[in-house]
Amino acid sequence: MRFTRLKLNGFKSFVDPTDLIIADGLTGVVGPNGCGKSNLLEALRWVMGENRPKAMRGGGMEDVIFAGASSRPARNFAEVTLLLDNSERLAPSGFNDADQLEIVRRITRDVGSAYKANGKDVRARDIQILFADASTGAHSPALVRQGQIAELINAKPTSRRRILEEAAGISGLYQRRHEAELK
Ligand code: ATP
Ligand code: MG
Repeated sequence: MRFTRLKLNGFKSFVDPTDLIIADGLTGVVGPNGCGKSNLLEALRWVMGENRPKAMRGGGMEDVIFAGASSRPARNFAEVTLLLDNSERLAPSGFNDADQLEIVRRITRDVGSAYKANGKDVRARDIQILFADASTGAHSPALVRQGQIAELINAKPTSRRRILEEAAGISGLYQRRHEAELK
């Protein structure tokens, strides 16, 4: 499954509807400081179920909603849509009914978040599991935050090893070995 499109509406600095086509191969996002490059990656994490405000550089989850600017009032909701190519029908069951998978997450002030998958209401947990199964997701080591490389270099050897093991996908093996040793 491949990301093909990311649409934002009222998410952080993307107050006007924005539609990004994600082509095959490598995608680069360039622009001056503060133009919203990191906000784009956060939108990607958020629509995949990220629920830690800190990971979104905010104090609360509603901080992802456009907060207003000198010339524009704040918005009441934020919505991010992620489209995935499912023509090979690799999506897990329950999500595998079409050649395209459309995930929508919307947060409304004082109401909270709601998710849809191909137009049907789903729970946050369903979306988190969907992306965990596809070995991606909000916590995936494939998404590298700004400053994370410097953190890795400056980390203590044991915590650096933990991060690298997580990225290599072997931390689950240690867990299972530990469980086996206890038996
Ligand atoms: P840099 O090159 O410095 O890393 P960047 O392109 O990654 O910059 P971002 O951090 O994505 O930039 O965007 C920061 C901008 O987003 C700031 O101008 C900030 O005010 C704006 N912003 C963040 N949250 C909101 C919000 N809820 N409402 C309105 N604007 C927001
Ligand atoms: Mg940035």
